[in-house]
Amino acid sequence: MQFGAVASIALSFLVVLFYFIRLITIKDLKTKYDFVNLNEINYLMIGGYLLVISGWFFLNSLFGDKVQVEAGIFIGRLLGTLIFASIFLVVVYNVLKIYYPSILEKKLHKLRYTPRKSPKTGNPMKLLSEEEEDVYLSEGMQAEEEVFSVDYDVWIDEDSDYTKIEKYDGHLHAEKCESCKFQTLKVVKEEILTSPTTNDKGELMKYYECTYCGHKERRLFTIGRIKVSEDVQHSPV
Ligand SMILES: [Zn+2]
Repeated sequence: MQFGAVASIALSFLVVLFYFIRLITIKDLKTKYDFVNLNEINYLMIGGYLLVISGWFFLNSLFGDKVQVEAGIFIGRLLGTLIFASIFLVVVYNVLKIYYPSILEKKLHKLRYTPRKSPKTGNPMKLLSEEEEDVYLSEGMQAEEEVFSVDYDVWIDEDSDYTKIEKYDGHLHAEKCESCKFQTLKVVKEEILTSPTTNDKGELMKYYECTYCGHKERRLFTIGRIKVSEDVQHSPV
């Protein structure tokens, strides 16, 4: 029992340590962003569970290892402490799934907006605004940005004109759920109901689902008319 307690507490620290060492070795901020976004909660979850298991072993070790007691009492004790441990497992799960996401969002926000360093000159680069960035994005990227839950960030080194384009997936970004008030509402599906033409606007339906309470909702979005460039529109016939 004591061995189990020590082993699982060590394993718990190793898992969390492994995560942070991998994180430190990533230099590029965007890669770091993706890594944190995908892995942080999972690693902390495994670490937290192992800690609870360690506590369960420890609790049982307090009773001594002698099996002089009747089997009934022994099993009863194991089950009793197991119920206790599972309460803690639920607590760990809820903290990480409900409260932690808002802390994670802040962390990701910082990673996303920390000025990138230009590999050409070493200068801090400048993040272009939505209006400025269009020049650097292909038409496909712009359309994608307008319609789907995708965001492109364009960083520019003003001395060398070096640019870095980073793609962010809105699907991974959670919004506040109307039903449970936690920041756990995510886009699960997007569907174009009517495609936009040069004359008419199109319609897009986004389907949301809350990862905590399961609340579902849909929102209708308008897609702008397809723009025809000025010189085509005004060209003499
Ligand atoms: Zn909810």
